[in-house]
Amino acid sequence: MRKTISIIGSGFSSLSASCYLAKAGYKVSIYEKNDTVGGRARQLVKDGFTFDIGPSWYWMPDIFEKFFNDFGKSTKDYYQLDKLSPAYKIFFSDEVITIGDHMDQICKEFERIESGSSKPLRKFISQAQDHYNIAINKVVLKPGISPLELVSKETITRVDRFFKTISSEVRKKFKNPKLISTLEFPVLFLGAKPSQTPSFYSFMNFADFGLGTWHPKGGMYEIVKAMKTLAESLGVKIYTNSNVEKINISQGKVSSIKVNSKTIDSDIILSGADYHHSETLLDPNYRQYTATYWNKRTFAPSSLLFYVGFNKKLKNIEHHNLFFDTDFETHAEDIYDNPKWPKKPLFYVNFPSVTDNSMAPDGCETGFFLIPIAPGLEDTSELRQQYFDIIINRFEHLTNQDIKKHILFKESFCVNDFISEYNSYKGNAYGMANTLKQTAFLRPKLKSKKVDGLYFTGQLTVPGPGVPPSLISGKLVANLINKNEV
Ligand SMILES: Cc1cc2nc3c(=O)[nH]c(=O)nc-3n(C[C@H](O)[C@H](O)[C@H](O)COP(=O)(O)OP(=O)(O)OC[C@H]3O[C@@H](n4cnc5c(N)ncnc54)[C@H](O)[C@@H]3O)c2cc1C
Repeated sequence: MRKTISIIGSGFSSLSASCYLAKAGYKVSIYEKNDTVGGRARQLVKDGFTFDIGPSWYWMPDIFEKFFNDFGKSTKDYYQLDKLSPAYKIFFSDEVITIGDHMDQICKEFERIESGSSKPLRKFISQAQDHYNIAINKVVLKPGISPLELVSKETITRVDRFFKTISSEVRKKFKNPKLISTLEFPVLFLGAKPSQTPSFYSFMNFADFGLGTWHPKGGMYEIVKAMKTLAESLGVKIYTNSNVEKINISQGKVSSIKVNSKTIDSDIILSGADYHHSETLLDPNYRQYTATYWNKRTFAPSSLLFYVGFNKKLKNIEHHNLFFDTDFETHAEDIYDNPKWPKKPLFYVNFPSVTDNSMAPDGCETGFFLIPIAPGLEDTSELRQQYFDIIINRFEHLTNQDIKKHILFKESFCVNDFISEYNSYKGNAYGMANTLKQTAFLRPKLKSKKVDGLYFTGQLTVPGPGVPPSLISGKLVANLINKNEV
């Protein structure tokens, strides 16, 4: 008889795991509390405007391609992928830096800002490529069970790069503060300060400058739709509006889950919901990590987000725009060292309709505004409005146009929504940071140490935050289940 697997949640990691497990012959069902699949990557469609609620940067196209290749498919079978040119724009208080779609253009831009900087940049990116090859082909494919997984000829000869930080490496090579911020930006996706992130993680800089920034036509939700189609074609059953209330254990092994008050027998249970929340579905004696454990982890930031429909095309913008006109370090301190609402926040704005006219009605612009903030902050409608006004005023000044009077509507999303929509710990947006002390075997485990047949996946376990790591996390846990549960 085929073993049954119940998966909690329908984020990227759950969808990925479901495909591998169904292919391996398990009877797989996904239970998602919300009314649509995709987790943090859901979509908002309003009055002809299409917004990706969460992720908007499509980096590491090779990982998406490998995922679909594992099922004899290609991304091309599901969505059209375009390389963005330029990749993005960074607004500083007195200057704009444009990141092109290949190294020659980027070197030219670096030279414009700091004469002689293109040579160290090429060297830095070449080392970042070396890190990328090791990280993606070796390190991230390990299930995080033992420290020995990290020991290889490649890692031993580069061990110093786990103890130096990105921040110190970048500062050794570049003097101009704008170039320093440009090179520190990609590791923010890992959820920690560049001064806390090992220099080995410069592989994110290769992902940025070497592999480029891409856009699936129709938005990031096209990836979710593709994975759902693939999963269903492999026999996965997906149930939405299905809140998992309890994981039941019998004689040290999982027996069933309670979904909307109904008990569903399961041989194996895999949770792709936030790890902390998943453990609260167990009786306390079956939980592996204490409240103190979670409280001491470095969580990736939460975010204040606005989804705004504009009744005209805006000028001086690109698809991706970073606003680094205030101090990077001060904002990072407000997130990590002394959590509070930032005095002068950096922010990011995504206008997918600049390159993809399917995202907004004719002559209109779809705008997604994001301010990273510490998880667990007080979240009120007054604070949201206050910060909206701050960033819109700065946006108008830096892009030299009036936009307030062209707003048709705005929706917001913040700490309280991350908690109510996703059961997110302290309202974190993208999981647990990848610091040295929270990497690989030091992250919460894929397999429960206390309950047989219970597994976890997603951005709080290995390898970490981001869409590509979530796809990998699903594959890692599926491999582990296959190995353990034959
Ligand atoms: C604002 C934002 C911007 C981001 N930007 C990027 C980006 O540009 N590029 C990038 O690569 N990554 C980005 N990320 C990170 C990326 O989106 C996440 O790492 C990834 O989507 C996490 O997937 P997951 O499978 O771990 O979990 P989730 O997407 O969180 O899925 C977990 C699911 O479990 C469900 N669930 C929870 N509790 C229960 C329950 N009791 N019963 C049933 N279901 C339950 C939730 O509703 C949710 O659907 C961003 C994230 C956010 C929030």
